[in-house]
Amino acid sequence: MSHKFLIHSNNTPSSKSTEKTLRDKLNAAKIALSDTLDDEVELIICIGGDGAFLEAVHTFDFPSVPFIGINTGHLGFFQEIAPDQLDEFIENYLAGKYSIQSMTTVKALVEHDHKIDEFTALNEIIVKSDGNYSIHLDISIGGGLIERFSGDGILISSPAGSTAYNYSLGGSIVDPRIDLIQVTPIAPMNTTAYRSFTSSLILPHDLSLGIIPDVSGSKGRLLVTHDSYAAEYDSVDNIEIKLSEQRVKLLRFENYDFWTKVKSKFL
Ligand code: NAP
Ligand code: MN
Repeated sequence: MSHKFLIHSNNTPSSKSTEKTLRDKLNAAKIALSDTLDDEVELIICIGGDGAFLEAVHTFDFPSVPFIGINTGHLGFFQEIAPDQLDEFIENYLAGKYSIQSMTTVKALVEHDHKIDEFTALNEIIVKSDGNYSIHLDISIGGGLIERFSGDGILISSPAGSTAYNYSLGGSIVDPRIDLIQVTPIAPMNTTAYRSFTSSLILPHDLSLGIIPDVSGSKGRLLVTHDSYAAEYDSVDNIEIKLSEQRVKLLRFENYDFWTKVKSKFL
């Protein structure tokens, strides 16, 4: 059976030299390489760190083809192999010695000016103020109003994104085998003037979150981010956030274990 891969790399010197070595090794193994994501491509190899991986996921618009990451970046939480494991990778891949980790994504529908913008994120969606002032958001869960949030904003994380910004904000690390949505406050205010939840809220996969920004007291624009991309709005009527049907697939090899990875990267 013939194989065809696609390589997506960032521009650091170590990524470029890893890419060159990899191309030579794949040629020797008679694996074809494609410049575009056509129907025959069976694997996307992403060289870089987590940022490069997220960029690849967005560039190829959440493809059904699985990814494998080679870490030349800083943390490399998504990335499965190191640049010195290329032979092992090719050997294990050809022998079918791998499993596929399927990760859920989060989706935001932003209703504004009689239009709806749709964004999908692998890590997280954030709704926040674009400057140094607080924002006020009416938050509903499953259709019912749950709180009026006041503070910097809120972050809605997928399980895969729980170890990213969510974790820095004090959110929980979630095993990606669980389908859930985590809503984490960013600098919530708690005074006699404002009351907001201070911990993350964990929602089941089939519930959606509704956000109605209070525009009356707002000084500026609203920022809605999806992973490292951002959109700014003057006025927003409503935002709905839920798990998306789109999944991102990652190749993992035999010794992969989520909690071992967490320990090795965080402690
Ligand atoms: P970045 O500024 O390099 O990302 C910050 C750190 O988060 C990097 O060390 C990155 O790994 C790591 N990271 C990304 N996704 C991760 C995940 N799912 N689990 C564990 N760590 C993860 O920017 P970037 O590389 O373009 O990544 C964008 C992401 O950065 C955003 O989606 C957001 O989650 C995160 N972020 C975090 C903070 C914070 O913690 N205060 C602030 C802004 C954004 P690499 O070093 O391998 O790139
Ligand atoms: Mn990065």
